[in-house]
Amino acid sequence: MTQVVLRNPVGLPTGLPESGLTPHHQSDAWTQSMQRRALLCVRCQWPITDAAQRIAVAGDHEHTVFNPHGVVFHIGCFGVASGCVGVGEWSGEFSWFRGHVWQIALCGRCQWHLGWFFREQLGAVFVGLILNRLLENKEQQL
Ligand SMILES: [Zn+2]
Repeated sequence: MTQVVLRNPVGLPTGLPESGLTPHHQSDAWTQSMQRRALLCVRCQWPITDAAQRIAVAGDHEHTVFNPHGVVFHIGCFGVASGCVGVGEWSGEFSWFRGHVWQIALCGRCQWHLGWFFREQLGAVFVGLILNRLLENKEQQL
């Protein structure tokens, strides 16, 4: 269902992320962790998440999935991806994780499609990020 990204479903502004898009779970702790093991958007180098946020979902951190159009994605699961913004409606269609609905996740700076937020019915959220669209910022490792 990734084609909806191209339709710009909520009329995203083309300017800076400050122009109304709110990153998820922004915090000082996140900012500090970004400076240790940041994972960056390949396209614009915006800090997306942190290597320490890697989690296992359904038994694995990494999953190879495909959408109804047969496009394959290799994703990794992260507890928080503060550099992403969610766009569009939550959907239960073709969800890769049982019991979860999903929402498209874009880079908070360049708005490239980086993955999907997943939410359980009771509210727990994680994000599945397309791993070859992330760059590990080795220069900032301690
Ligand atoms: Zn970006």
